[in-house]
Amino acid sequence: MKPLIVANWKMNPLTIEVAQRLTKTVKIGLRGIKDIEVILCPPFTSLSIVKKELKGSGIKLGAQNLFWKELGAYTGEISARMLKDVGCDYVIIGHSERRHLLGETNGMVNLKLKTASKAGLKPILCIGETIEERQEDKAQEVITYELISGLKDISGLALSLLSIAYEPIWAIGSGRTADPDEIMTAQLLIKKILTGLYSSITAQKIRILYGGSVMGTNAYEFTKVVGMDGLLVGGASLNATEFVNIVKALTK
Ligand code: PEP
Repeated sequence: MKPLIVANWKMNPLTIEVAQRLTKTVKIGLRGIKDIEVILCPPFTSLSIVKKELKGSGIKLGAQNLFWKELGAYTGEISARMLKDVGCDYVIIGHSERRHLLGETNGMVNLKLKTASKAGLKPILCIGETIEERQEDKAQEVITYELISGLKDISGLALSLLSIAYEPIWAIGSGRTADPDEIMTAQLLIKKILTGLYSSITAQKIRILYGGSVMGTNAYEFTKVVGMDGLLVGGASLNATEFVNIVKALTK
């Protein structure tokens, strides 16, 4: 299994021109890197230009969200088919910013996961606890609930497309990363739940990523030392040099 590095640009950069420039610099910086799967997830307005710019590189395109209906009167939403049409291979689902700022529920996350895999998009399911939940010793409970409810009635082919990102919410954009112990505990729990829901073989095939204040200086620790199968990178992915350093850290 190749490690997976996902760049979540969130609602950045402001213009299509800057998105194109960022893509070009990342593409040049990662030239020759083959054993790592790299995904750029720009905002919807830049998907098309980023796809064009990525042509000829091994870097793939991802979206940050989708809606579970195919088309129709759903103002402001975007469907899996539309994302496929613009050239996406991946889609982030259930990011904590969507859950906590926009009220996305586990039920919605479940519908989105089913829709993505049905359309052939590879979903990256985000789960993770708030600081209050961790302080109240509820992190494991939250991870378990988000995982089980998110994956309700999902099986077969859909699982072969799935990756899971453990992102403690307090580590996102805060400059504070989770301890190796905390990450390892979450990773083991996720594997245990997947084994219980499916089988140990299936659990081994699903990549489990870490997300939360990843930088070039800590990427090696999370992957090579802690043993995560990849990284979901927010803020640092907007700086081409930093993002390239993160990916290159995995080649050491
Ligand atoms: C994220 O967007 O999921 C994220 C992990 O952000 P950051 O790397 O900025 O913490």
